[in-house]
Amino acid sequence: MLGGALAGCATPAPSLSATAPSAAASASAGPKKPPTMAPGPAGRTPVFERRTTGGGTAGGGAAEKVVALTFDADMTADQGPRAKAGERFDNQELIALLRRLKVPSTVFMTGRWAEEYPAQAKGIGADGLFEVANHSYSHYAFTADCYGLPVVAKDSMARDVERAFSAFRAAGVRNVVPYFRFPGGCYDDAALRALAPANVTAVQWDVVSGDAFATDAGAVAEQVLDGVRPGSLVVMHCTSSAAPVTGEAVRRIVPELRERGYRFVKVSELMEG
Ligand SMILES: [Zn+2]
Repeated sequence: MLGGALAGCATPAPSLSATAPSAAASASAGPKKPPTMAPGPAGRTPVFERRTTGGGTAGGGAAEKVVALTFDADMTADQGPRAKAGERFDNQELIALLRRLKVPSTVFMTGRWAEEYPAQAKGIGADGLFEVANHSYSHYAFTADCYGLPVVAKDSMARDVERAFSAFRAAGVRNVVPYFRFPGGCYDDAALRALAPANVTAVQWDVVSGDAFATDAGAVAEQVLDGVRPGSLVVMHCTSSAAPVTGEAVRRIVPELRERGYRFVKVSELMEG
């Protein structure tokens, strides 16, 4: 369902939009195709991992001072009743703040979240400041023993990811990139093999913000500011009930990193570099 069998090295991912992927159309209309990584042995899902060491990321030369803030829009498949009872799995103030501060960022959205908040999902996707990546449909784990999450069966893994893309389409979400974040960041070789049909590039991170269930915005900001190196990829959350101080932390992080000479980029730009 993700298009033809374009599995070759460095082939642009098949278009996830509804429009035909003609060169003319992509040149004049939509944004250019996001870069992806070539599959691993036997088609295994490739994993984009940041390994920023003292000298910055690999690639030679002076590492550019770029950093990608990513926000996970988590919602587990069985959390509908909790949303009905008033729990907020969204964070509109945070998205508004990112817009005000003009911070390009990548939102890793679950399909369940897009179903719960279709207008917000569409609004995020309609804004060129953001790109929407896949964080599974159910936010269930892709390995055993992953933060107590229920586990997706091996033969349902690719379907779970594709179901999230379907939910994005149903909500009219644009700017969808073929990147996938494993719930909890938990994966193993079997999961990478099982996900091959989904044609995604898995995206990990090197800086944990610690914003989940945090109550001290200053501590979250400090942890991020301590951890960021040129080329870093930071994981945060876009869920106000479970990550209530993220906005306040971002308010502190963004001006400080800009002061240090950093430029904020989306994951797609980081992957290009
Ligand atoms: Zn998550």
